[in-house]
Amino acid sequence: MGAQIIDGKAFAAKVRSKVGEHVTSLKADHGITPGLAVVLVGEDPASQVYVRSKGKMTTEVGMKSVEHKLDVDTSEVDLLALIDALNNDDSIHGILVQLPLPGHLDEDLVINAISPAKDVDGFHISNVGLLGTGQKSMVPCTPLGCLMMLREHHGSLSGLDAVVIGRSNIVGKPMAQLLLGDSCTVTIAHSRTKDLQDVVRRADIVVAAVGRPEMVPGDWIKKGASVIDVGINRIERDGKNKLVGDVDFASCAEVAGAITPVPGGVGPMTIACLLANTVTACCRANGLAEPEGLTA
Ligand code: NAP
Repeated sequence: MGAQIIDGKAFAAKVRSKVGEHVTSLKADHGITPGLAVVLVGEDPASQVYVRSKGKMTTEVGMKSVEHKLDVDTSEVDLLALIDALNNDDSIHGILVQLPLPGHLDEDLVINAISPAKDVDGFHISNVGLLGTGQKSMVPCTPLGCLMMLREHHGSLSGLDAVVIGRSNIVGKPMAQLLLGDSCTVTIAHSRTKDLQDVVRRADIVVAAVGRPEMVPGDWIKKGASVIDVGINRIERDGKNKLVGDVDFASCAEVAGAITPVPGGVGPMTIACLLANTVTACCRANGLAEPEGLTA
């Protein structure tokens, strides 16, 4: 294996510890405790696990953590009323509504009801527009984590060819905007892209956010490229359940210069960046300087 393994677990621990230091000084110097509210509607088991670990890590860095667990049949009116109350609660600096929502709730309507300044997921249409126009915004956590790891590895990303495979609103599109913001030459590939392997072969940076197990083989990767694998796919192999990414780790690691593993790559960075966004939102809300290195 030639590639350097980008250890997302260790990097996420560093980000959380930096967040923790800022929380400590916000409390000591300004008497402010950053607060994150997570809203979960229904009992989706995967969402329950995410919400539990978000709550635990929020508390661990010294922030206030509030969880609102609502019945699966909660009405849109009641959910919007809760969001309105959180928008107006000065002790809450970040609001996250766990997706997906049950089918009777309009996700766009609900997300756009969150105050953009407290939208720590970065999904509000105002934040999407701010990011797209290169202005200060709340940046979606998963692509922010990918960007941080790439910056750490490369220093400057300026002039590099980047290919993002996947064009979802939560990963692919914001990832492409962030890479563009760092002056990469960006291509967004998707299910209709022709000759995907040729497109990927040109890239100095490949970000795979597809949701198809081990779709990208090593012979698509340019020698020395950085490969960021966002995919989380549960498969059964040799009678055992296994988590794999969207790239074939073994063959890609032979050619890449650096690669994120699954698990232990992008995944841990997502919650770390949620905490980072909450501190950033808290500083902005209080007119204080934002911590360096915790946003785009
Ligand atoms: P998504 O909304 O399903 O989007 C998948 C994208 O992949 C779409 O744009 C789709 O193209 C494209 N695609 C599908 N098949 C393709 C193919 N054969 N060739 C090229 N492109 C193809 O997924 P997502 O929410 O972005 O998530 C992607 C993956 O990342 C999933 O495995 C998810 O679990 C994982 N994820 C991980 C984290 C984390 O914290 N690590 C966070 C979020 C997501 P079209 O638009 O043309 O359909």
